[in-house]
Amino acid sequence: MACLRMTAMYTYKKWSSFLPWTYHGNTKSTRAMKVSYYFSAVWRKKDLDFLKSLGLAKNLKTGQGHFTVSNPELCEKIFEYFEKPDGLLKKAKPDKYYSIPASVSFNKEEFNSANIYNLRYTGDSLGNPEPFESYPFNTFNFECVECLSGKKQKHDFRMNPKKLKKYQKSFILFDYDIIFFERDFYLSFLKPLGLNHRNIINNKTGEVLQEVVQLDIPEAKSKLVIQGHEFGESEICKGTGKTQYGIQTLDFFPPFEEEFDFTICKTREEFIGGLKRILISRDFMELMVEHKIVKYNQYQLTPVKNNEHFSSAL
Ligand SMILES: [Zn+2]
Repeated sequence: MACLRMTAMYTYKKWSSFLPWTYHGNTKSTRAMKVSYYFSAVWRKKDLDFLKSLGLAKNLKTGQGHFTVSNPELCEKIFEYFEKPDGLLKKAKPDKYYSIPASVSFNKEEFNSANIYNLRYTGDSLGNPEPFESYPFNTFNFECVECLSGKKQKHDFRMNPKKLKKYQKSFILFDYDIIFFERDFYLSFLKPLGLNHRNIINNKTGEVLQEVVQLDIPEAKSKLVIQGHEFGESEICKGTGKTQYGIQTLDFFPPFEEEFDFTICKTREEFIGGLKRILISRDFMELMVEHKIVKYNQYQLTPVKNNEHFSSAL
């Protein structure tokens, strides 16, 4: 299989400051994973002739335009054609040409054989914590209130009484490092796994809501292997010196440095907004899928790279 060329990444770097994430990747270790590229330029007639000879961009017209390609061999041909050095009289690149990795898709084997998944979200949202404007500071302490770094929960969430939909066993807020479950589901399936909970307080009466609980998600016992993985552009908090990583959509989720047993945990690392990421074991993923809390797809689950996958592929 063709390796994606580094030239694309160099081109991309120039544009990365406009984007929420930066690509500084190592394509060799992720070659089975398919990266789709987005190409944009002020296209000339000869560029269109070339693209059409590859069967691409059939509706593209001369002038400013863009298209996306997911086939790695075709991406390679486009990089080779446009990203070579300009000749004395000929410009290889049309004006404003750039290419960026747009998304990734994992092949079936990569997705199915992961032992750990990043749970991106669990499904429906169900209203807001109360009082909505002040809940973050009522509920959490922060080491830095500017970037919301070092979040530690100090009080239970308050909410207005919740009526879960019939099928609904779980719901989320905007903060996707926090998950709520129907209390009965928690007691039947999650408590037996040794997972703790926090109550949710009825904002009107001050009593404990009986229908729902917040899962108390333990922190990971290991750091992530950050190096060599494509995270978004990091931000470093001036106050605490802590790094917050950017959006991560262009790679496997990185593995832990050291193995440990867990069903669900959140990363030690923080991401932009002070949020952590939730990682779940294969067994926990299967439980969530069985109860229709999580769909078994790449929108909700990002596989963690399993080194065994690649020993046969390299
Ligand atoms: Zn800060």
